[in-house]
Amino acid sequence: MTLLALAQLGRGVVPVDEPVLRADDEGVLRGRAVFETLRVYDGRPFELHPHFDRLAASARRLRLPEPPQGQLQSLAHDALAAANEPNCVLRFLWTPETGLALVSALPPDLEDLRKRGLRLQVCDWATGLLAGAKSVSYAENMAAQAAAVEAGFDDALFVAPDGSVLEGPTSNVWFREGDVLHTPTLALPILAGVTRSVIWKLAGAEEGRYPLERLLAADEVFLSSSVREVMPVVAVGETAFERGPAAAELQNALRRYAGGA
Ligand code: PLP
Repeated sequence: MTLLALAQLGRGVVPVDEPVLRADDEGVLRGRAVFETLRVYDGRPFELHPHFDRLAASARRLRLPEPPQGQLQSLAHDALAAANEPNCVLRFLWTPETGLALVSALPPDLEDLRKRGLRLQVCDWATGLLAGAKSVSYAENMAAQAAAVEAGFDDALFVAPDGSVLEGPTSNVWFREGDVLHTPTLALPILAGVTRSVIWKLAGAEEGRYPLERLLAADEVFLSSSVREVMPVVAVGETAFERGPAAAELQNALRRYAGGA
């Protein structure tokens, strides 16, 4: 991650290499902190309020105080002005001690990955109490992603002990059967992706509990997330997929909706 600008509650914009966390912050010591990551298109944070709603919901799950939305919003405004980069990634971090807004550069390889499509490694996944909350206790997700990369894949696909498809470590998953899109139901222990809900609005989809075999037999598979947007999938384990029309159309539709095409 290339950090372009950083702002902290009570201090405003600070140099990106400035220490901003206390050593006794429980966010650091025990992973008791929540975060949000969103895209900024042409200087406008995309779906800021749904992200704030989810930050507040995650904070409630971790029994953290309510994040001060207005103050975080003005912090983000100042950090974005300092970064002076209209297309970037905005993050909020809310710990028991502090709140931060971080602006970073977009990962440089996104469009190459979109052209080539992702290969996913199937990963058996037992979800914990905080599944569906965006807490900084993401080490398991990151370890699964790193293990997939070590094994020659691009990312992981989590599958529950009963064989139901869940999500990726940092994305929601979709598959197409003919004209019908499917995505795992939010009744499962997965994150309610903001991009997922935008795609839902744009294209509609059926939700359900899907065995992995059903996804493996689909016509097309793709992932969605704020940073990677709509990412085609070309392999899940040993099963190969063609890059299909739905992912490409939805990527364009998402950009049009974001006003950043
Ligand atoms: N699922 C998980 C576990 C995630 O961490 C993320 C995003 O980081 C998503 C899904 C996608 O969510 P969003 O579209 O809000 O970025």
